[in-house]
Formats: sequence, C-alpha cells, structure tokens
Amino acid sequence: GATLRLILGDQLNQKHSWFDSVDDNVTYLMAEMRQETDYVKHHIQKVTAFFFAMRTFKEELSEKGHQFIYLKIGDPNNPQDLAKIIETYCDATDAVRFEYQLPDEYRLDAQLKQIAKSLKIDTHAVDTEHFYTSRYELKNFFSGKKQLLMESFYRMMRKKHGIMVENGQPDGGKWNYDQSNRKKWKGTPEIPHERGFRKDVTDLLKEIEESGVKNFGEIDPEKFNWPVSRSDCLSVLNYFCKELLVHFGDYQDAMHTEEKYLFHSRLSFAMNAKIISPKEVIDKVLEHFHENKEVIDISQVEGFVRQILGWREYMRGIYWKEMPGYAQLNKLENHNPLPDFFWTGNTKMNCLKHAIGQSLSDAYAHHIQRLMVIGNFALLAQLNPDEVDQWYLGVYIDAIEWVEITNTRGMSQFADGGIVATKPYVSSANYINKMSDYCGSCHYKHTQKEGENVCPFNVLYWNFLDAKKAHFKDNQRMNMMMSLLEKKSASEMDYIRKKSAEIIENPDTF
Ligand code: FAD
Ligand code: SF4
Repeated sequence: GATLRLILGDQLNQKHSWFDSVDDNVTYLMAEMRQETDYVKHHIQKVTAFFFAMRTFKEELSEKGHQFIYLKIGDPNNPQDLAKIIETYCDATDAVRFEYQLPDEYRLDAQLKQIAKSLKIDTHAVDTEHFYTSRYELKNFFSGKKQLLMESFYRMMRKKHGIMVENGQPDGGKWNYDQSNRKKWKGTPEIPHERGFRKDVTDLLKEIEESGVKNFGEIDPEKFNWPVSRSDCLSVLNYFCKELLVHFGDYQDAMHTEEKYLFHSRLSFAMNAKIISPKEVIDKVLEHFHENKEVIDISQVEGFVRQILGWREYMRGIYWKEMPGYAQLNKLENHNPLPDFFWTGNTKMNCLKHAIGQSLSDAYAHHIQRLMVIGNFALLAQLNPDEVDQWYLGVYIDAIEWVEITNTRGMSQFADGGIVATKPYVSSANYINKMSDYCGSCHYKHTQKEGENVCPFNVLYWNFLDAKKAHFKDNQRMNMMMSLLEKKSASEMDYIRKKSAEIIENPDTF
C-alpha cells in the first residue's frame, strides 16, 4: 500500500535513510505554513531562508526520482491547516500509512501526535537521524543529579563518540581550552570576507509579501547571502575549515564595529534546518585539523567542537527534559517591556546599536553579542523574558525554539533559576570594553560610575544585583559580587536606584 511521509521545514536532511532508495509507493508532503510564519513576527530573511531551502530540497530530491506534494505559501489550494492537509493528501494518495520525523519543537510534537491519533490509517514517527543524542539522553545522563553541568555532559560526549580522545584522555591533555579563547580583535589577523551567495530571491519575496505574512528586518532581494542548498552549506563548511578555523577559538568572544562575523562559521541555519548534520561538520573540521596540524592549534578546534558536540546537544537535551514548563519560567520575576530600540537599533548605546542593528540588517549576531550585549542589557533592565524570547525567536536566521529558548530564557536571562547557567551572565561596561571597540566611540563613558554620560550598564549592573539579591543569597558564585554590593554607601545606592529607574524608562534621555 501507499505511504505518505511528512517533512517539516527544519527537516531538510537529504541523507536521511528515507531517501536511500526511490519507492513509487511513497509520497513526500511538504507545505509552507502560516502556522510557522506567524507564531511570532519573523525577520524576513528567516522566512525567506526556510522557504527557499525547502523548495531547493524538494527540487533536488525530485530530480533523484522521489515523489512530492508541495504546497507553496501562496497556493490557493493550500488550506493552511496542518491536520486538514495531512488528511486530504492521505486520502488523495490512498495512503495506508502516514509517517513523520520526530519534530524538535514541543508545539509541533504535540500537534502531530494529535493528528496521528485522529487518522484512521497506521501512523509511525521516526528519528530525524540528525543529532548525536536522542531526545531524552541528557535527561537520563543527569538522572538523580542536582546540577546539570555542561562540562560533564560534554566530556561524556567526547568519550562516547571518540572525538579528540585517546584511551579516555583528551587530546592535548586538556578537555577545555576556554581560557585561551579570549582575545580582543584589534585589526589583525585579517578577517576573510564571509562566504556569501548573492542569490536573487525577488520572486519568492513577492510571494511572501502577497500572502500577507507579517515580518520585519532588512533584505536585499538580489543578494541573499545565506546557504540554502546542500552544496551551499558544504561550501560554507569548507570555507570555515580553510579560512576561519585557524583563529576561531582565539576570537570567538571578540566584537568589532566593522566586523559582523569575525571568525564565526555562520553554520547555525544550515545545521538547524538539518541541511548538514553536526557529525558532518565535526568530521570535516577534524579531518582538516589533522591535515594541517602545523598551522592550526588544538585550542581553536576544541573551542569549535565544544559549541556543537557540547552546547548544541546539551541545549537540545535540556529542552526535552524541561519542556513544556520551561517556556513559562520567570524565576527572577522580570516584567519590564522591551524598549523600542530593539526594533530600530536606534540608541546612543553603541554596543546595542551595533549588535541590534546587525541583527535587524542581517538576521545574525554572534554568540557574545547575543549574550553579553543584548541579553546582558535585557537582564540588567529586568525585561520580561516572554518578550525577550519572542524577539530572539523572530530575529535570528537560526532561531528554532529548542535552541533559542534554552539559550535566551536559560543561559542569558537566568529565568530558569540556574538550570543552564550557574550564575547570571551580567556585566558592567568593563567586559564589553575588554572584548570590543564599541566603547571608544560611544556617547556614554565606560569608565564612569556616575555623573554625566555614565554608561547605563555600569549603573544597571548594581541595581540588578540589589533588586534581585534575595534570589542570589544562596548562590556561592555570586558571593563576591554581593559583598561588593554590600560595601556601597546609602547615598551611592540611592543614586543607583534612581538613575536605573530613569534608564529603564528611557536610556537615551541623558
Ligand atoms: P559559531 O560561533 O561558528 O559556532 C558554531 C556552531 O556552534 C553554531 O553554528 C551552533 O550550531 C553551535 N553553537 C554555538 N553556541 C551554541 C549555543 N549556545 N547553543 C547551541 N548551539 C551553539 N543558536 C541557534 O542556533 N539558534 C538560536 O536561536 C540561538 N539563540 C541564542 C540566543 C542567545 C541569547 C544566545 C546567547 C545564543 C543563542 N544561540 C542560538 C547560540 C549561538 O549564539 C549561535 O548558534 C551562533 O551565534 C550561530 O552563529 P555561527 O553559526 O556563526 O556560530
Ligand atoms: Fe555599551 Fe556602555 Fe560601552 Fe557605550 S560605554 S558601548 S553603552 S558598554
């Protein structure tokens, strides 16, 4: 009998065993859905990238002989109702079996379980064959443990998958070279231009606009720069190995007004849409490293492997361990609304102007911009994590809930009370100045603690610790900061509280 197989927009894995052979009894179903474009307002480049990648995937597999039903966003016969679409095409193909790949998002998982239950034919869910870990592997690994330390998960992963280990010991003698990965970039070494694609997406863009999908952000329709096909993605990966890996670790925390990407790979969309797999990426990087050991230091490679084998899989595991409750957590009880400049980049705070401006123009900011500039401000200004999450989920090309929410609500906003991070990632201007050239040309003074043009981060930092001190009283990692806070005089604290209220109201009035 016939089988209908559903493929979601982030399941573009051509290497999946489903495609090992062509089977005339199998039809693949893909649909561009308003439920996916509308759950938050999205950056136009994100919507474009997903639809473009889906269409490319369908084209390439059709050419190999696989049969597809594909509903475009603007198709008049696209009912925009997932249950209805599945039912209609099960009937139309006389399917006796419906199959889907396990979604990575809780929302879609629940929806598909429900739909599968309502169908009168056999239904079956299979693995996506993408990740190193299964959904509940992290949960089982940490079962009975109070602290879910990334580092211990990461070491287990290195050993289990035999990555940079020999006889159970880490290559080079160290598991983690984070300490050596902290350089500021001061104009050298030269940063190669990003591997761009300059694709013309004018027609697709028109379809998206005509279908009424609300969006924001900038796009150049004739120069779309994200990889959408397998060959594009492999090309980005090759480019990373050849041009960027050599300095990746050293400058992964650096930020610069003139350089958006520095030595970052820009592989997150390619991986999150499953066009390439984490194993493919790591294998390629290690192969390149072994062939070029005389020029590439192990610390650069370990830093990269940790992000993918460690953090990425860790976040996936945390998501499935903690959902659905995780999406509502607001342990620090933050309720302030998002300032308007999140949608315009229009602020005199130079670090935020650049990090947000770049997010709006390119649907991209790298890790430290997301964490130590935008996320740092959001937490210090005590913004509502629901609004913060929606912004991150909408703006970034790679934002899919399983990896967005764990990073934003967890790692960055500490709204989970310390499941992901052992202490909040907050800092004054000092850290931002250490890692970037933002402060030098800023309206505000990074060295000032009070008075005219004081940097807002310097005031908000102490105000945040003061406002949330009850939450941190048992957190040993906060002891040093809390005792510094205690030493502040009553008049200093008075200034900090008043000024912070002003900044939170509008940071750009002084
Ligand atoms: P590189 O710096 O080249 O890193 C290589 C790869 O490592 C990335 O492609 C990514 O797959 C992986 N990686 C690195 N850090 C993380 C991490 N913390 N969690 C999971 N994977 C990681 N990443 C997303 O993919 N989607 C998101 O929605 C997302 N939201 C974030 C929100 C916040 C507040 C923060 C602090 C981080 C977020 N990240 C997210 C993680 C990270 O910032 C991006 O993966 C990275 O910036 C993507 O750019 P790149 O591919 O050039 O990364
Ligand atoms: Fe950002 Fe303050 Fe530095 Fe300006 S001085 S760039 S606001 S940290």
